[in-house]
Amino acid sequence: MRPFRPTAATLADWDADHVWHAFTQMQEYEPLLIDRGEGATLIDTAGNRYLDGSASMWCNVHGHRHPRLDQAAIAQLGRVAHTTNLGLSNPTTVEFAKRLIDVAPSGLEKVFFSDNGSTAIEAALKMAYQFWRQCDPPEPRRKKFVAIGDAYHGDTLGAIGVGGVDRFTAMFAPLTFSAIRIPSPCTRRLPTGVIPQSLESMLNHVEGVFKEQAGTIAALIMEPLVQAAGGILVHPPGYLRGIRALTDRYNILLIADEVAVGFGRTGTLFACQQEGVTPDFLCLAKGLTAGYLPMAATLTTARIWNAFLGTHADRRAFYHGHTYGGNPLAAAVGLESLNIFRDEQVLAALPKKIAALQYHANQLAELPHVGDVRQCGLVVGIELVTDKVSGQSYPWQEQRGTQACYAARRHGAILRPLGDVVVLMPPLCITLAEIDRLAAAALAGIRSATTDNGVVSLAFPTIPAVHV
Ligand SMILES: *Cc1c(COP(=O)(O)O)cnc(C)c1O
Repeated sequence: MRPFRPTAATLADWDADHVWHAFTQMQEYEPLLIDRGEGATLIDTAGNRYLDGSASMWCNVHGHRHPRLDQAAIAQLGRVAHTTNLGLSNPTTVEFAKRLIDVAPSGLEKVFFSDNGSTAIEAALKMAYQFWRQCDPPEPRRKKFVAIGDAYHGDTLGAIGVGGVDRFTAMFAPLTFSAIRIPSPCTRRLPTGVIPQSLESMLNHVEGVFKEQAGTIAALIMEPLVQAAGGILVHPPGYLRGIRALTDRYNILLIADEVAVGFGRTGTLFACQQEGVTPDFLCLAKGLTAGYLPMAATLTTARIWNAFLGTHADRRAFYHGHTYGGNPLAAAVGLESLNIFRDEQVLAALPKKIAALQYHANQLAELPHVGDVRQCGLVVGIELVTDKVSGQSYPWQEQRGTQACYAARRHGAILRPLGDVVVLMPPLCITLAEIDRLAAAALAGIRSATTDNGVVSLAFPTIPAVHV
């Protein structure tokens, strides 16, 4: 008897009826089922091909179906798929931990594995809090966390405590703690005549907060170089280094959330490396397994680790863990991903790709309804506005960003917006020719979503293919 195989249309119905999608208004949801992937391309159940312009939610690194990653997973399946990380170990996970330490900023020596970005953050927050209770001498007054305006660190209750994107978190505020907020240092295009704040004055403000809260701050948490989910908010050079200097001076722990920016997104393996910074905690997830399997890691220093040592009776252990933390299947793929970074010289190929994206970003910036374009490495945010001169936003109900991304699908690219910011975050493996096609699809999408509101659109630049 032939097994029953649902048709694509049936599956789309089941999807709309039963699957509750993340960050999605299900009443308006239109199913699109991705059946296969190849490199930077996704293929739907009808056989349509799309460039994966958001790297499958900022996770994919070396492309879909990379033969070496596929093989690493298969080989590990031949040994064991899962054991446990609670008081037990396995060779693959140990080797992966060692390799992570080898490539991470120096000083990070310990790896705590969990299974998603939010849990990597939760672990760092709880470790930081517990550290101040167990260090010598203890500083139990250090209970507060400092976070940046419009920060996004995940969706669990602890992570939204330090998160600052109100439209995601405001409702749940009574259920969580509230962080001390410092303004985002984003360098965005300002209306003519408005003088940007200097780096020095931004850092002075942070120092003012540290002084005012003397001895009560446990840690400062931030995404290094660029706040991704906050809207591709790019920080000025020197900000991260300045924050590290201040946190050192005031004995405040620094948590670097590299869940989005880690693994080459900004041009270096880790964003912290661009400013020579070693944080006290480095949180990794999305790209950790090159976009294959759920896994996260919270890296930390010997100083933190040592405060948790003692006998069983001392009750100083970190009583926290996730069932699939350190999963060997994920570790096998993560380990092979690091091998690919090394063997295929992935980082060395990035400057040309970043320059090509920048060329296109500059072209897109000329569009009449693009108010600002911000780029950090292979991460680009294109902000749509009603009026370029004033930088006036569209009414949020019009969902121009979403419209632009839907329209881009018809031109062969899958994109996901952040409000009215159209985001390009392709896998690192994207080729120069694919970057041209991605930019052309974004252009077509933006054009179609912004030409119907009565504002005269002048000539649109066409994007010639470029290979820098
Ligand atoms: C995605 C993301 C998270 C949360 O990761 P999940 O795996 O979705 O829980 C945390 N921080 C940043 C910066 C992220 O981009």
